[in-house]
Amino acid sequence: MKCPNCGADSISLLRRLSLGPAFPTKCKACNRKIGVSFRRTFLSATPYFVVLLLIYFIEDPLNRAILMLLGVVAATIMNLKLVPLIVVDRD
Ligand SMILES: [Zn+2]
Repeated sequence: MKCPNCGADSISLLRRLSLGPAFPTKCKACNRKIGVSFRRTFLSATPYFVVLLLIYFIEDPLNRAILMLLGVVAATIMNLKLVPLIVVDRD
């Protein structure tokens, strides 16, 4: 993934997915702190909340597991599409 400050390919996809609003990382190239915005991250987690609601009405464990998996996949895709990397140590 590209650094929003210097444009270097500085963090891996896996590292990017593990970034939370409270857990920024540092760019290996420019050493600036980069992370994700809380609002966007929250928005991208919508599929999780929908799944948690739906699961309440589903009794079959297999269907529950499938639904949870779909929620995780959807939230991951939304996270990558909707949540841009930002420089968080602006001064
Ligand atoms: Zn950088």
